[in-house]
Amino acid sequence: MYQLKPLPYAYNALEPYIDEATMKLHHDKHHQAYVDKLNAAVEKHPELFKKEVLVLLKELDKIPEDIRTAVRNHGGGTWNHDFFWSVMKTGTKPHGEVLDAIEKKFGSFDKFKEAFTNAAVGQFGSGWAWLVVDKGALEIVATANQDSPVSSGKTPLVCIDVWEHSYYLKYQNRRAEYIAAFFNVINWDAVEKNYKDAAKN
Ligand code: MN
Repeated sequence: MYQLKPLPYAYNALEPYIDEATMKLHHDKHHQAYVDKLNAAVEKHPELFKKEVLVLLKELDKIPEDIRTAVRNHGGGTWNHDFFWSVMKTGTKPHGEVLDAIEKKFGSFDKFKEAFTNAAVGQFGSGWAWLVVDKGALEIVATANQDSPVSSGKTPLVCIDVWEHSYYLKYQNRRAEYIAAFFNVINWDAVEKNYKDAAKN
């Protein structure tokens, strides 16, 4: 059985940008539901419990067909949220090798911010926007539902959840305002580490 991992900080750690009530609901109810539904699917092929969720997502084509869609949706929901929590923190600034790579790829940090924001605002319906490394190069991608870039061989550095459940309590329909606030809680230490780890692969 897979277990919901605890949030790596207090529910109010991202205030005022992401509020405590949203974090509590998002982690304890939404994230938990993905874990529960992933478990319900994998119970039909319990030998798969030996694999980490990340591995299931990377090898979706090897998952038995009767549970493949469930693993894609709920495995994605399980892993994407763990990753999302890990790339948020208040009080860090873009720095290091990843900042150099961002400036080189996008021309400036502001241009990166604009492109990432456009991807997040423009994702129709529910989904995510990501900064990933793909074959050694930085790339911004958006995914629908709980699809994860790891399933297409990409390595995420940072992401934002743009499902309404991630912002509606505080920002209602103002997704762009939530995305602007998110830039105050990106954990740039984690992004730098993710970038360095990606370079090793
Ligand atoms: Mn979510």
